[in-house]
Order: sequence, then structure tokens, then C-alpha cells
Amino acid sequence: MPLLSCPEVDLHTHTVASGHAYCTITELSRAAAEKGLKGLGMTDHGPALPGGPHAYHFAALRFIPPTLNGVRILRGIEANILEGGQIDLEEPIRQRLDLVMAGFHDGCGFDHRGAKENTRAMISLMESRRVHVITHPGNPIFPVDFVAITKAAAETGTALEINNASFHISRRGSAPHCEAMAKLCARYDVPVAIGSDAHFSEGLGAFDHALQALCDAGIAPKQVVNRTLASTLSFLGLEA
Ligand SMILES: [Zn+2]
Ligand SMILES: [Zn+2]
Repeated sequence: MPLLSCPEVDLHTHTVASGHAYCTITELSRAAAEKGLKGLGMTDHGPALPGGPHAYHFAALRFIPPTLNGVRILRGIEANILEGGQIDLEEPIRQRLDLVMAGFHDGCGFDHRGAKENTRAMISLMESRRVHVITHPGNPIFPVDFVAITKAAAETGTALEINNASFHISRRGSAPHCEAMAKLCARYDVPVAIGSDAHFSEGLGAFDHALQALCDAGIAPKQVVNRTLASTLSFLGLEA
């Protein structure tokens, strides 16, 4: 069983801009530095989520410096996957971002569609190459065909997230789905992202449950895209 080291980058975090998270990016970056993280994905929820930020939040992310408190800030979004694999951010703004993640969330206009339609939307988005990471695909509220999505992720080079919060604080019932998906990711050599999904600084860099699931599944270290800052930047096509 390969040993996976703790990722240097937390790809999935939320600031006050998300409407239901409680730290500023300055506070998160300070906490990240204290925890020894080298990078941080600032991935606030997309505008379709009730209470989420306006699109202008994402348009103006250029005001955030690339490094804060010595931590590389990846200016991103956790967009919402909508009808036909669309997301809730216009293309010109999306293109300015360092990191585009997307997942299914309640109350955004794409609820209770069933596994077939969910899978179709997720694969369409991956095939459009407009997303780097699919967040928490193990959520039982939004069932998907794991064989189909892992194969599509491998073909398109999209990372599937193993979300640490899904094991203990959010999206009850996700754990067996995440474990099954991790095994398929190992089989099909799918890029994998690990995220804390922190909504407060205390949760930053919490990866223990996700790392355990990935180790148990036999994921190779090179499959974890955010294992180092360098591997993260390379995956995103960004300069150091
Ligand atoms: Zn949230
Ligand atoms: Zn989410």
C-alpha cells in the first residue's frame, strides 16, 4: 500500500464571501501559514447558491495578491453544476480564475434529477474542459454512475475530489461512496484532489479521513494533484 504524504495545498476552502463561512482570506492565509500549508484554494461558492457571492466577487479576485502571509493563493470558485453541464459563472470571468472547481449543491436549480441526469451533466462539464476539479462527487443526495464519471475524469484529465468534510461533518452517508470511488480512481488512474472544504480556519488542512480512504484504495502518490505546491501549479498550468 503506497504511503501518501499530507498535501501541501488545501484546494478547497470558503471565506465570508460564501455567505455561510466565517473567515476572511487574510485570516485563512495566516492560519494556513501556521499549519505549514504552502497554498490555498480560495474557492467560494458560485452565485447560484442561496446566499452566495455575486459574480463580481469572482471578476474582482485580481485584487487578491498571489501570495498572502507566504501562502500561495489560488483564486478560484466552487461553482454549481447546472442543467446540461453548465456552471453558474460566465465564461469571461471563469477564464480569469486560477482554479475552477464545481459540484452539485442543493437549492441551485438542479435538484432531484436522479443518477442518469446527474452523471450526464457532470460528464458534459468535464468534456467541456472548463473545470479542473469535481467537488464531493460522493454526495448521496446527488447520485452518479461512478464507473462512468471516473472513466470520463481519466479521459479528460479532470481531478475528482475526495472531500475530507464528507467523512465527518457534511453530506452524511458519503463515506462508502467516496471509498468505492477511490478504488475506481486507483483502477483507472484518475487524478485525485484532496480538500478540507473548511468553512472556518480551524478546519484548514484537515485531510486525515480522505488520506485514509485513498491509502486504503491503493491510490499512487502521483495521482494526488495537490500533493505539493509544484504539482498543484503544474496541474493548473500556472507559473510558480
Ligand atoms: Zn459551503
Ligand atoms: Zn461543495
